[in-house]
This record gives sequence, structure tokens and C-alpha cells, in this order.
Amino acid sequence: MQRGLFINGEEKPAKETYTLYHPHTEEKLADIAESSKDNMAEAISSADKAFKDMKALTSKQRADILFKAADRLTERQEEAAEIISKEASKPIKAARGEVNRTVQTLQFSGEEAKRLNGEYLSLDAAEGGAGRDAFTMNEPLGVIGAITPFNFPLNLTTHKVGPAVAAGNTVVIKPAEQTPLSSLFLADIFTEAGLPKGAIAVIPGDGPTLGEVMNQDERVKKISFTGSPEVGKLIKSQAGLKRVTLELGSNAAMYVDNSCVDDLDNIVQKAVTGAFAYNGQVCLSTQRIYVHEDLFDSFKQAFVEKTKNVTFGDPSEESTVVSSLINKKSQQRVLDWIKEAKANGADVLTGGESAGNGVLPTVLTNVGRDEKISCNEVFGPVVLINKVKDAQDAIDNMNDSRYGLNAGVFSNNLRQAMKMGHELEVGQVLINDVPTLRFDHMPYGGVKDSGYGREGVKYAIDEMTELKMISINYE
Ligand code: NAD
Repeated sequence: MQRGLFINGEEKPAKETYTLYHPHTEEKLADIAESSKDNMAEAISSADKAFKDMKALTSKQRADILFKAADRLTERQEEAAEIISKEASKPIKAARGEVNRTVQTLQFSGEEAKRLNGEYLSLDAAEGGAGRDAFTMNEPLGVIGAITPFNFPLNLTTHKVGPAVAAGNTVVIKPAEQTPLSSLFLADIFTEAGLPKGAIAVIPGDGPTLGEVMNQDERVKKISFTGSPEVGKLIKSQAGLKRVTLELGSNAAMYVDNSCVDDLDNIVQKAVTGAFAYNGQVCLSTQRIYVHEDLFDSFKQAFVEKTKNVTFGDPSEESTVVSSLINKKSQQRVLDWIKEAKANGADVLTGGESAGNGVLPTVLTNVGRDEKISCNEVFGPVVLINKVKDAQDAIDNMNDSRYGLNAGVFSNNLRQAMKMGHELEVGQVLINDVPTLRFDHMPYGGVKDSGYGREGVKYAIDEMTELKMISINYE
């Protein structure tokens, strides 16, 4: 199969291609366009021209396109799940879950397209301001550059395209090299839904080469990036006065306090799911678990038992929960970090070995705070369980991180849970949930190295629009 780049309403071939392989089976999936800098410049030109067509649409017309896209995706959901599962080696059940979330992201975007309301301003609150009416409105910016990661290739791309369309912008997508097929599928869905030609483009290929063109082109008004902190920082340093949103990585932590003794089984099950969902390749994967010393041994034992039942296998199998990592380099990095932690005194309670092109679900304990596997983002099926004295000890450990995305707190002590809510240095604190949780309309983003700005449909729209004020002097 040959797949090109999507530009001005149609797919066309590129001069160069690269081969896309299934990360688990290693079968060849397609020859993909290795887009050139000129291809990117052409996509930006046509998105810039299409901006006038987007501006001509009413809020209702934009909402209708988004709802129609949601309907088309629902009709083609199994096809979409298979694409994600193959190119990302995502277990098929998890891939279906991603498609279902994408439908909701589109629906939330359609709803928000009808709610772009401004506010009335009392200019007479200022001396000399009387006799005027003033109000604000949100105007679209123009071309949005969307640079996306491999791990949720459909939903995270839709988190950029949905709000962009809701606000009346156009969008040029630079998908992750490993997962371009999901973005091409999304462009197809939007075309079927009646989005004006040129308002969406997909330009697969090399990140640094194509990202540089996007960053330097003044017609691109905003870069919305999801990916690693290293690339995010580079983009921000190159973006000049362009707006930038950065959704980056984390080594998410959770705490279980001793008031949870009766809920332990349920909490352990949620934590196992949070640690191993999509092979641990989730930005808010449950990586560090801190358990009150009173419950530590029973939690650890139950966790290891449940982990042994997590099935590794081919992502197309219904029973598979963990599959191969995105590439062999990732597999080797995760294995090296486990080996290093072990050499420095960590105990491997289960897993720790390779399977296919991935790693078996792995549980470690007695891991030093400075180990690579603790203070970096693992992005693999590895979880660390640590004993703490009390909530303050948990806060100190959880905050000892360069990241700050989501944190989970399990406690039946409301006062203590709220205190942790205030003191944890993250974008979102989830009380009585694991950190591996996101609903698509909630505000979502990080502090420290986890990011800059917020997504979540309504919040992404704020960052993709310009606030304009008009005042009328009627005296
Ligand atoms: P990555 O940073 O390697 O790549 C992300 C995208 O950036 C790709 O499209 C890539 O081609 C592009 N890119 C690479 N170099 C570039 C450059 N110099 N200029 C412009 N673009 C460039 O990330 P990845 O491996 O695809 O994804 C994993 C990372 O994404 C993890 O750190 C994960 O935590 C993070 N992530 C964060 C969130 C979130 O919402 N916070 C969600 C998913 C993934």
C-alpha cells in the first residue's frame, strides 16, 4: 500500500517515501510519503487560503461538520481501531476505546462551536468610561500547526483539529512518523463531513525538517504540540511570537493512604490498569506508586498477583493487554533502565524481561529516587511501588520530579486528600482515581517539564482564538 500526503482536499504522492512496519509482527504496512519542506510550505499556503472559507461558515455550520465527522467515525469505528492497533501496536480493545473517545472529542467540539460567547464589559467602572457599551468576542487565529505523538494517533490529533475547526481555524498536521495512517484517516473523515478544501492537511515525514518550516512560517499562527519535553522545548525556543501549547510527558505518581484498607482490592485493580494500559506508553501512565507503610505489604502482594495475569501478545488478539513497544530502541532503553536499577539494589517483583519487541509487565520496589527509571518517563510497562510514612512523606516524594501532569490520591480522609490536592505540583489532581485518567472535555495540561498551556476542547479553543473587544460610544 502506498500513502501520500493530504493537501487541498486530496491525497497526493510525494517524491520520497519511507516504509512503515507493524511494531509487533514486523509486517510491512505501507510506503508513506516522506514529505519535503516544499510540501509543508504548500500545505500552509492552501490552509492559509482556506481560512477565508472557514471564516465564512457560521457557528452552526462548523458544529454540523463536527457532528457529521463524529457520525462518520462511528460508522467506520472498527476500521479506525484496526488502523490504530496495527500502526501503534495498540491492543485492539484499547484501540476501540481510543476511537470511542475520539467520537466524544468531536461531539464536544461541535457543542463548543455553538458556545463561542464573549462578555459584556462595564466600561463605566472606569472614570470617564460612561456612555459606552463594550463586549468581547473570540476570533479564530488562522492556520494552526498540529504536531502529534504516536501513542494516541487519532484522539490526540482530534484534540487539535476539533477545537481548531470549532473556532474557525484551519489546521496542518505533522503526524508522528510511526503513526501517519490515523491522521490520514481523520482527514478523510473530515472531508466526508464537508470541511472546506484545504482546511485540513496531513504532511507525514521527518519531525525536525517539517517542524522547522512550520515554526518559521509567519502564516502559522500557533503551534499545538504533544510529545516529549525535549522536542517541546526546542519548538518553543524556535517559535518566536507564535502562540505555543505544549502537552509533554510525565512520571505520574499516586498515593494510597491507610484509610483505604477496605478498598484495597479495587484500588490495586485500578492501579494495574493505569500502569499497563497501552504498554505503559501513555503520558499519564501510573509509574510511581506510594503506599502508606501500614498497607504496603498487602498492596504490593496483591499488585504483583494481578500483574501476573496481564496478558502480553499480538495487539489484534482480544485478550491482549500489553504488546510490543513502538520500536526496538524503546524496548532496549526500558530493559537497560531496569537492569541499571537492579544493579543499584532495586528488586524486580515480576517481569523485567523482554517479550516480542516489548517488555513483560514489570513491578519494581526499593528503587532509589535518582534512578533513571524513577526520575524519567519510562514510557513502557514498568511500575515502581514505594513505602511512605504518611501523607507528607508521599507529597515530598511525588513532588520530587521534573514533571507535573496528573497525580492520583486514594484517601477516605477528606481533609488530608484536599491538602494533597493543594500541595501536589501538577496540572490535575484526581482524588480516589489513578493518575491515568482523562476525560476529553476537562482542562488538561502540565506544569514544570510536563507542559505549557491547556487542552481539553473548551480550553484548547481559548488558546486557538484571539480575544477582541469592541466598544460603542453612544453619548
Ligand atoms: P516525540 O517528541 O518524539 O515526537 C512528537 C512529534 O514531534 C512527532 O510528530 C515528531 O515527528 C515531532 N518532532 C520531532 N522532532 C521535532 C522537531 N525538532 N520539531 C518539530 N517536531 C518534531 O514524542 P513521541 O515519542 O511521538 O511521543 C511520546 C511523548 O509524548 C512522551 O513524552 C509522552 O509523554 C508525550 N505525550 C504527552 C501527552 C500529553 O497530553 N501531555 C500525550 C501523549 C504523549
